[in-house]
Order: sequence, then structure tokens, then C-alpha cells
Amino acid sequence: MDITPLFTITYGLYVVGSRSGDKLNGQIANTVFQVTADPVKVAVSINKTELTHELISRTGKCCIGVLSEEADMAFIGNFGFKSGREVDKFASMPYTLAPSGCPIPGVNILAYIDLDICKNIDVDTHTVFIGEVKDCGITGEGTPMTYSYYREVLCGKTPPTAPSYRSESYKEQKQKEESTMKKYVCNICGYVYDPEIGDPDGGIEPGTAFEDIPDGWVCPVCGVGKDQFSEQ
Ligand code: FE
Repeated sequence: MDITPLFTITYGLYVVGSRSGDKLNGQIANTVFQVTADPVKVAVSINKTELTHELISRTGKCCIGVLSEEADMAFIGNFGFKSGREVDKFASMPYTLAPSGCPIPGVNILAYIDLDICKNIDVDTHTVFIGEVKDCGITGEGTPMTYSYYREVLCGKTPPTAPSYRSESYKEQKQKEESTMKKYVCNICGYVYDPEIGDPDGGIEPGTAFEDIPDGWVCPVCGVGKDQFSEQ
């Protein structure tokens, strides 16, 4: 079956904050949606392998942070391509705590929605957690980031654990066909270094060949070195 029609479904992007005891965690999710108005309930789908899944299952709480278009790939990479089992994602991140005790990043978040989970729906690889909204608030001004903005403008990848994972965006396929310059892909997170674009935030000018990038440069998404990249 050709699942291309599913790629037309629109999504937002969110940081799902969770907590158990002193352990704070946050992960990027795109499958967040309001399911009822009275009482107001919101659903979020989380892969069973994620630490977030473990923490929400344990506490019955999480807090959704609505991501702003201002968020860069380094911010998204911290929450989306690293495991809270290996790193403390809030170690160098300003944050506040929702009434549930779950963390809300202090930057790049436009609003928070604090949930008391009332129902878990098992859907094979994922659980859809449905939560009653216990508190919510506006935390910033700007435009909420959509999933298509993330993929098409930031050229973001999707981790294989995401519900909507797919191997390549249309834009990436097209670029691959049109470009003769060598691109390199991060073996860890899938970030693609495109020499035509460079990595201006990381100090690499557009037009810089991968071979000419200084050795100290790291993947802007997940932080690994050049040795973790392969020719695309
Ligand atoms: Fe990476």
C-alpha cells in the first residue's frame, strides 16, 4: 500500500514534559490534539520505548509545551534526538514547573497544557494517553511550529520512534535528484549537512564542503562529531 496520502495530514510540534521524583524529562511529539471540549481533554501519542512513556505511565501526568517557530534545530535536537535515560535534557535549559510538577522549557514555548491522564489506549508500538486539562497558560508570543515547517524549512528529520516516521521528505528526495554537491548525513539523528546551506548557526558558511568543516564542529541537532557522518 502506498501511504503517501498520510503525509498530507497536518500536525504541530510539542515538548511533552514529564517527571518522576527528581527526574525531569521532555521529548518532542507531533501527535497532540484536543479530543473533547467539556470537560476539555487532550490526547498525546508516545512510543513505548521512550522514557517519557515510562514516566507518564508511572505518574499519570504530563505537560504539553507548544513549540514556537523560533525554536532552532539545537533546541529541537536536545528534546527530540537524545534520550532522557542518557542525558539530563533540562541541565542547561531554563524551565518552570506546571502545577503537576512537570517541566516547561523557559524558551521557545508559546503555551503550556497541564494534563492529568485519565485513559491509556494501547496501540501496539505506542500508547495514546488522554488527559484532562488541569491548567494551561500562554507563555510567549509568536507562531506555533507546524510539523511541515519543521521538515520543509528547518529540514528536520523524524526519529524512527515517532508515529508519523517516514524515510525522506519530498524536498530531500528532490534535492538529492537535483544537486551534484556531496551531502553528508548524521548517522545518529539523520541531520543532513548540505554544503549549499552550510550551518550558519554553527559558524559554517554556505558553500563550505563537508571536508572543509573544522574538526571541532558538531552535529547541530544531536551533538556528535564529524566522524559520525556518512556521505549521502
Ligand atoms: Fe546528529
